[in-house]
Amino acid sequence: SKVPPIILNNGVEMPQLGFGVWQVPDDEAQQAVGTALEAGYRSIDTAAIYGNEEGTGRAIAASGIPREELFVTTKLWNSDQGYDTTLRAFDTSLGKLGLDYLDLYLIHWPIPSQGTFVDTYKAFEKLHADGRIRAIGVSNFLPEHLKQLIEATSVVPAVNQIELHPHLQQHASREYHAEQGIATEAWSPLGQGKGLLEVPAIVAIARKHGRTPAQIVLRWHLQLGNVVIPKSVTPSRIRENIDVFDFSLDDEDLAAISALNEDRRIGPDPAVFG
Ligand code: NAD
Repeated sequence: SKVPPIILNNGVEMPQLGFGVWQVPDDEAQQAVGTALEAGYRSIDTAAIYGNEEGTGRAIAASGIPREELFVTTKLWNSDQGYDTTLRAFDTSLGKLGLDYLDLYLIHWPIPSQGTFVDTYKAFEKLHADGRIRAIGVSNFLPEHLKQLIEATSVVPAVNQIELHPHLQQHASREYHAEQGIATEAWSPLGQGKGLLEVPAIVAIARKHGRTPAQIVLRWHLQLGNVVIPKSVTPSRIRENIDVFDFSLDDEDLAAISALNEDRRIGPDPAVFG
């Protein structure tokens, strides 16, 4: 594969770059995921709430790529949290994807006010022990939620998928993850494309390397050690976003991008969301 793996805390290999499909309608997902698989992506990030597990599954089936070469992630939605509901939601997601095991299952949001993420995760541990999921993790967990989870359960999450881009660099979370052996996966790694790709410092680094701003931002993540899952439905951009393994940013480039932090979220605050 074009994409080097990182090794998760349970020894499972995960491609460091994958394809995200949030906001891709189910009837367009087969084509978008198919384009990504042709371009060399082997990791796909979906979620029950995205409503496109079936289209994603159709693309996987149509690709003819051996199952063991793929890394498929989906996420448990908030209203399905709880032990028994999680077991049922997992079966539904796996059925929609048309798979007989999952590579990574994530609790989509902690919803601390609901008080159910520990029971939910215990169901994840059972599915993991039963060999139905290769790695289990969480999404949008703050360090305080991770601490609570780790104290109450036995499998340290392999991954925490959080909003992370040059305007929201998440230093406290990244440090805590590193201490605990949790991989940091960046959602909205391009800041959803909006203003971030026009920031003069990023445009200047792009010119210097003869690359696009999106490629520069993705390189910054990769060189920091983050897993990234950029999303696009445009075939040329899908290909551009994986074409980032034949150049490197130097220390000055990395420092210039790291200076752009504003601790500014695009999405909701996990402490109160839900
Ligand atoms: P992103 O940062 O990947 O940005 C995607 C947008 O950037 C595209 O819609 C397009 O407008 C633009 N873009 C993409 N490639 C480009 C290029 N090469 N040049 C110029 N513009 C480009 O944002 P995202 O979709 O929010 O995040 C990526 C993935 O992260 C999602 O698809 C989803 O899988 C995941 N995600 C997870 C959560 C969560 O709560 N766990 C939340 C949001 C997203």
